[in-house]
Amino acid sequence: MVIYQTQPGTVVMQDGVAVSVSQQGYFAIGFHHSDVETRIITLRKDGQTASFSLTPKVRTYDIERIDGLSRQMVTPDKTVMDRIAKDRQDVREARAKSHIREDIFINGIDWPVTGRVTGIYGSRRILNGKERQPHYGIDIAVPTGTAILSSADGIIRLAHDLYFTGGTIIIDHGFGLNTTYSHLSEIRVRPDQIVRRGEVIGIAGSTGRSTGPHLDWRVNLGTKRLDPARVAQAADHPSPRPRPARQ
Ligand SMILES: [Zn+2]
Repeated sequence: MVIYQTQPGTVVMQDGVAVSVSQQGYFAIGFHHSDVETRIITLRKDGQTASFSLTPKVRTYDIERIDGLSRQMVTPDKTVMDRIAKDRQDVREARAKSHIREDIFINGIDWPVTGRVTGIYGSRRILNGKERQPHYGIDIAVPTGTAILSSADGIIRLAHDLYFTGGTIIIDHGFGLNTTYSHLSEIRVRPDQIVRRGEVIGIAGSTGRSTGPHLDWRVNLGTKRLDPARVAQAADHPSPRPRPARQ
């Protein structure tokens, strides 16, 4: 994620699509896992126009193999697929709700808990020998019972149990930026509740598709799935060294 500040009142477009600009002139641009295309950012104010381009460099990602998962967690049958489709719809709707118009993301995004990082963003995943979607979260191994904190101020948009991610919370931080917390054993918030940065929102566990207690933490900006490690404040929590994945 790249955060820019321009003069308040500037109209910002990304490849011809309007970008939300805060009252103080901040806006954010996000890149996904495998984005390679150049983006053109155009700024317009008082009849004047300026533009610049951003070209992402492709990263290389690890391959992560996880075996010993139950079949229903890798190739679920029809009834389970229906449940998963409903879960995905819930998540899409929760992430589409973004009404906050404050400069929350300017203050940064905190790690929700500290612990050994056992799964990193972008890994290609081979589950019981079958290739599945890459991993778009960060897995942090913590004992069941560990308090999970909100990464920033925001509003709860989803707080219930989902098939793959177990106890799940999605927080809207405004301007399309949201954070997701999964595999929780307890959820301590409800939809539409306002939370503050550092507030306890739930308790870590191993619910859903998980082989041990951990938190799966994700950061999205609009439709882009970002790398939480790159969004989080590096100062407070120096980049943990990735280890072979277990979860
Ligand atoms: Zn994960």
